[in-house]
Amino acid sequence: MRIAIAAVLAGVTAGAATVRLQPDRDPAERGTLRLHYVQKPIGYERYEIVGDGDGLKLSSDFDFTDRGGRVQLSATLRTKADFTPVAFTASGKSYRFVNVDSEVRIDGAYAIVRADGREARVAVTAPFYTVDGYAPLAAQMLMLRYWKQHGRPRIMKTVPGLPANDVFVEPRGREAIRIGANLVTLERYAIDGVVWGRETAWLDEKGSLAAAITRAGGLSFEAVRDDLEPALSGFVQRATRDRIGDLENTTRAMPLLKSGTYAMVGATVITGTGAAPIADAVVVIRGGRIVDVGPRGAVRVPDDVPTVQVAGKTIVPGLWDMHTHVTQVEWAPVYLAAGVTTVRDMGNEFDFITPLRDAIDAGRALGPRLLLAGLVDGGGPNAFGVVYATTREEAGQVVARYHDAGFQQIKIYSLVTPPIVEAICAEAHRLGMTVTGHVPNGMTIEQAAAAGMDHIAHLAIRGEADSDEVKRTIQYLKEHHTVIDPTQSWNELLGHAAGTPIAAFQPAVAKIPPPLNRVFSNAGAAGIDAPAARARLERGLRIVKALKDAGVPVVVGTDEGIPGHSVHREIELYVEAGFTPLEALQAATLVPARAMKLDDEVGSIEPGKRADLVVLNANPLESIRNIRSVRWTIKDGRVFDAPALWKSVRFRP
Ligand SMILES: [Zn+2]
Repeated sequence: MRIAIAAVLAGVTAGAATVRLQPDRDPAERGTLRLHYVQKPIGYERYEIVGDGDGLKLSSDFDFTDRGGRVQLSATLRTKADFTPVAFTASGKSYRFVNVDSEVRIDGAYAIVRADGREARVAVTAPFYTVDGYAPLAAQMLMLRYWKQHGRPRIMKTVPGLPANDVFVEPRGREAIRIGANLVTLERYAIDGVVWGRETAWLDEKGSLAAAITRAGGLSFEAVRDDLEPALSGFVQRATRDRIGDLENTTRAMPLLKSGTYAMVGATVITGTGAAPIADAVVVIRGGRIVDVGPRGAVRVPDDVPTVQVAGKTIVPGLWDMHTHVTQVEWAPVYLAAGVTTVRDMGNEFDFITPLRDAIDAGRALGPRLLLAGLVDGGGPNAFGVVYATTREEAGQVVARYHDAGFQQIKIYSLVTPPIVEAICAEAHRLGMTVTGHVPNGMTIEQAAAAGMDHIAHLAIRGEADSDEVKRTIQYLKEHHTVIDPTQSWNELLGHAAGTPIAAFQPAVAKIPPPLNRVFSNAGAAGIDAPAARARLERGLRIVKALKDAGVPVVVGTDEGIPGHSVHREIELYVEAGFTPLEALQAATLVPARAMKLDDEVGSIEPGKRADLVVLNANPLESIRNIRSVRWTIKDGRVFDAPALWKSVRFRP
């Protein structure tokens, strides 16, 4: 059992950290959970449960600081003695950009729900629970107790999700972990529907929450009872095995429409090389590779090769997302559903992303090809993640570790100091890796490029595109062959005026699962009106266009955003910026393939390359919005049905 091993190997004894109060002498139940973001300890949730008439009252203070930003949430939950909810309140923030102000009162068969400034009276039928996202974790703990007390129902509803969401709880087994001299027995659960995708939670013999692994702001979030802290990475490994197992099950259940040897006949093919589209084309695929492509009259399909008629469709190369964080397995079906066959992960938990990559590479799990950039920051209380380099020696160790694990790149984060940036770049280049990341604090984008950074994440250029200063910067980047992933869809998503509905620029928001919808419905910038938000976006788009015109490689990246759909939005925004539809498509195909030195293998539809293709219902060169019309995605020659992929992760197709 790896949890036990991990905890023992950590060699930490628990000491007398927790004081468990005797229930007969003090009726209160108290708990302290240590909170982590991407495994970095960042704060605490402290809860107390006291008798309240015939029932119980939970009060929870949830409080952490992430990269200098404080997040606080206060919540109360009153229940009957059998944990049936009576009233729930939550106010504050559950993540840096997620405001929470919700209240639910149960009145017979109805719930009076106030959330997001709206009030509604909704019918509720048991089984149901009142939680509003992942925090506070103690509310999820009571939800599990309710579930056990009420016959372990297959589905529960949650409020205040408007509409209510379905929550599934699945017991995943028992295990014991050793912390010093103590052996703690735990029950493990998967919870699906409180957040998007599956959480993992462990309860102890008393029904108290021992640990939970969930997500906040799109990244991994771990809560561990303070005395169990030494087992943190064991919990992460255990949850990772469960979730990859789930993805392998999804893979086995997913209809594979075609694989092996076949020919797609009759579509318009946009090869992505820059050549004119091929009408009524034939693409022959064998053993996961493209063996021939051309007009029907010019390509001979051997007699033994089955054909698939795709007249009326358009085939483009598999898309790329050059800025993501695949922090949960649900991203794998999402990306394929959106036509994305390769992604660059820009910082993740080592214990999670490497086994996921390996499962996909081995064909056990469906998903896009994962290229990994290993995150490193400069240390200190405001640092991000758990991998730091503050000396040249540490820089060498960090690069070596990522290199040995098969990472393609290093991702430098904001607090790495200039000499260490140089040391990291030199060592990465020596080992054949490249370097991407944020422009570190105290450096300009030119200095970051001069220090050796091959790519820069986000659009770290201020000013107007036609100013001399910006022109000089762009020329400098051009001379240094610097690649930029400007993440404009992310800027648009977080920077839109709070009064502008997301659906106004991202229609796919109507298709996302309710827990994600609740997160994004609270996103948006306060204190900015729609014209000002639009002007800010357009300033960025002018720089993106100027970069492309100057010959600086611009690659499509989302920083997650609306899963999958933000890739399409990023491509659309480049057309708004003034790219031709073909140039925008290339920014999501051939340009990133070149940037990652993989253009011999992928990035366009040419004989010899991997059969990574997207079959669209409509031609994106006629209207770039047609990039959203994904019908089938082909990865390494295997044909997946996009609607089935979407449904597997609770999106509407
Ligand atoms: Zn990012």
